[in-house]
Amino acid sequence: MTVQPAAPRPATAGRRRPHVVILGGGFAGLGAVRALRNADVDVTLVDQRTYNTFQPLLYQVATAGLNAGDVTFFLRATRMKQLNLSFRHGEVDSIDSDGNSVHFTDGSTLDYDYLVICTGVTTNYFNTPGAEENTLAIYSRAQALTLRDRIFTQLEHAAASGEFIGSPELTMVVVGAGATGVETAGALAEMRNDAMAVVYPELDPRRTHIVLVEMGGVVLPPFDNTLREYAAKELRERGVELRLNTSVKEVSAEGVTLGNGEFLPARVVIWATGVTAPKVVAKWGVPQGRGGRITVDADMRVHGFTNIFAAGDVAVTPDALPQLAQPALQGGKQAGKNIKHLVAGEPTTDFHYKDKGTMATIGRRAAIADIALPFGKSLKLTGTLAWLIWLYVHIATLLGNRNRMATFVNLVTKYLAPSRRTNPIVGDVPVFDREAVKKQ
Ligand SMILES: Cc1cc2nc3c(=O)[nH]c(=O)nc-3n(C[C@H](O)[C@H](O)[C@H](O)COP(=O)(O)OP(=O)(O)OC[C@H]3O[C@@H](n4cnc5c(N)ncnc54)[C@H](O)[C@@H]3O)c2cc1C
Repeated sequence: MTVQPAAPRPATAGRRRPHVVILGGGFAGLGAVRALRNADVDVTLVDQRTYNTFQPLLYQVATAGLNAGDVTFFLRATRMKQLNLSFRHGEVDSIDSDGNSVHFTDGSTLDYDYLVICTGVTTNYFNTPGAEENTLAIYSRAQALTLRDRIFTQLEHAAASGEFIGSPELTMVVVGAGATGVETAGALAEMRNDAMAVVYPELDPRRTHIVLVEMGGVVLPPFDNTLREYAAKELRERGVELRLNTSVKEVSAEGVTLGNGEFLPARVVIWATGVTAPKVVAKWGVPQGRGGRITVDADMRVHGFTNIFAAGDVAVTPDALPQLAQPALQGGKQAGKNIKHLVAGEPTTDFHYKDKGTMATIGRRAAIADIALPFGKSLKLTGTLAWLIWLYVHIATLLGNRNRMATFVNLVTKYLAPSRRTNPIVGDVPVFDREAVKKQ
């Protein structure tokens, strides 16, 4: 008997149940997906990438602590636990809310009964001349790998030729002292102080500088003052030069011009400040608030719409929430729950954010944690205990057991081994060609 291969089924074929389309497979999108696991609906998850990215650990990929695969998760694998789910790879270009359809950049369309927009945000360069062209952000896996490769290219070049590309010393400037900037600067400093000092005997670590530039007067502004001071002290002890109350006026391929006119020669500049909704959102016909984010009502429905929801970083709720993983996850879940209510003919319910606290790490056994307790109280921790909690929370919230195990092994190897025995994950370095490398 010959078995005929089944004809490919279009995503809409044979659909009778309400169709929920979720745009974006980040924290918010997957929160919405999970809330619809047992609902009597068909769900299509749409993303321009085939994988979810765990952004909170991307800086570890950029600084050779983790592999890119440790922090990414194949979105189609979500179907293993949820059979009412399909995945559609594509980049959303526009939304026809009258015709209830999503239009992709490749010209194809997808119809929906309910839509959940969870497409996140992108880097805001605040119109700083040269910033977009000459800095590296850490928003995606590709960007993290580019940064890692850029650093290793500099190191190998200097090891082979005696000097860094374009400069006798290597200065890496991190712009923005929020959690991403602090964590990145801390990880770069440890990389220089620990592993580099051993594996690059040709290089003098004193010729590599890490400068953290922040327009405000403090690092980690959302945190309590004692926690900020601890973080600043730990950064300084690791040899990070803090430039507070300092703005960036311009960035060129050669370096950074500060607000006071001073020029910092730097071939590696990391932009870790400011986010905004992507420009394409303006084409979607939805109301936009601060930073171009989509305005939603208390039940997570986009203001003025009955069947379109938005959640996560791209959405702005009536009580403004921080652009973090937990508000995104919980907001996405609420959108999913409310779609279930609507399908069942019930009224929607309002979203109430449950604050579990925030944390940031500076490096080996140094972190800060502000843990929310009942009755509006909070527990503020620093040092090893905060760092262990940070480690646990980040590993536990990763998607997939394999990623959790790989990250656990990689971070424990990195941080629990004696500091000079950590084995960095290597970056890709082009074959040594002075002319090509100079152009990077
Ligand atoms: C470097 C970094 C470090 C961070 N560290 C922390 C931390 O320590 N703790 C914390 O709580 N938060 C942290 N955050 C913030 C946290 O990652 C975000 O708040 C969270 O990811 C927001 O989730 P989201 O689902 O709204 O968006 P995202 O996670 O950004 O997901 C959006 C998804 O939409 C897809 N998408 C976008 N546009 C389109 C389109 N046009 N068509 C199709 N698909 C599209 C994207 O590919 C992506 O998969 C960090 C963020 C960054 C960048």
